[in-house]
Amino acid sequence: MKIIAVNAGSSSLKFQLLEMPSEAIITSGVIERIGFSDSVFTIKVNGDKKRSVKSIKNHSVAVQIVLDALIDMKIVKSYEEISGVGHRVVHGGEKFNDSVLITDGVLNEIEQLKDLAPLHNPANATGIKAFQEILPNVKQVAVFDTAFHQTMPKESYLYPTPFAWYKKHGVRRYGFHGTSHKYVAQRTIDLLGKEIDNSKVITVHIGNGGSITAVKNGKSIDTSMGFTPLAGIMMGTRSGDIDPSILPYVMEKEDWSIEEAISQLNQESGLKGVSLKSSDMRDIVDGVNKGDEHCITALNLFAKRVSDVIGSYYITLGGCDAIVFTAGIGENSKVARKAIIDRLGALGILLDEEANQVRGEERLISTPESKIKVYVIPTNEEVMIARDTLRLLK
Ligand code: AMP
Repeated sequence: MKIIAVNAGSSSLKFQLLEMPSEAIITSGVIERIGFSDSVFTIKVNGDKKRSVKSIKNHSVAVQIVLDALIDMKIVKSYEEISGVGHRVVHGGEKFNDSVLITDGVLNEIEQLKDLAPLHNPANATGIKAFQEILPNVKQVAVFDTAFHQTMPKESYLYPTPFAWYKKHGVRRYGFHGTSHKYVAQRTIDLLGKEIDNSKVITVHIGNGGSITAVKNGKSIDTSMGFTPLAGIMMGTRSGDIDPSILPYVMEKEDWSIEEAISQLNQESGLKGVSLKSSDMRDIVDGVNKGDEHCITALNLFAKRVSDVIGSYYITLGGCDAIVFTAGIGENSKVARKAIIDRLGALGILLDEEANQVRGEERLISTPESKIKVYVIPTNEEVMIARDTLRLLK
């Protein structure tokens, strides 16, 4: 059975076609710059990337182009071969604690949640509608980034702000990257060979955005992102947690509006803001190797922010069987991983320097003497989306 996993952004549409239940990837691709005259369509076929540039005016046209390409390239004979479409949806609020089959009511709820995720949910809804229009008889499933974190206890999800903020306006920690945290946590528990009901795992998803989750018995009990993805650890361009009183202070000094100040925290902070160089960990490591003071500070600050949260989740979980690194930095940067693990000596964690050379592959990177196992596990949100879609089709 063939299932498409879709991640629709405001001007992009990423997709992967999977054979289920074997989880084999048949093809994948992306359309970028939807709505511009020079939209770019890239599709991988038999290991080769095919790229074309043309005007793709909206998501419906983008979906049509993807499906036509599948037929032209003889990947499928007809649309009938597609049994289901799974969509990544960023915000499910408190309403969705699991993936769901998309009905008119569900689509409406996703659109209503735009207050909480103004950049993402409308784009996700556009992607859903485009597939509904072109494949009206194919079942569609929504897989929410927030759903995995709905198991957090009150003391993890509530802020110590007036209770009315939560009651009236939904101000609470939601957490994000849930699909990724769930995937790597499940995989880690498999690798540990432990019963899920007796497992404690800390999942460290560090890419351009980043978050850390405390996973007890397979369930999220705390996570570092909050009401929005701006919270938590230091990221590529996002500050993570800061003292909120800094905002009115700099706004007054710089004569910034609240939008300008928040944009500074979203786009000009993190590795980029501190290093004065780049949001990309590769450039930071390059700078560190050349003795650039700002890059050295950025790496140290990043490692401290990440290791402090890991240490705190060790307490939250009451111990820890394994820590797992994933996403762009977690999977690829031996330097960033070492900088983080070097700060975790108090937990008896020992890094296997040789194993830590790994890039983009599943591997145990702690020594046999280490009190906590440390893994690198490439994340796979598409497989999770396809798995949930298959489960709900049944
Ligand atoms: P993601 O958001 O998960 O796609 O991660 C993207 C980020 O991963 C980039 O901005 C880089 O900071 C980081 N990254 C990717 N490849 C490498 C690498 N080989 N070494 C260090 N960092 C990397």
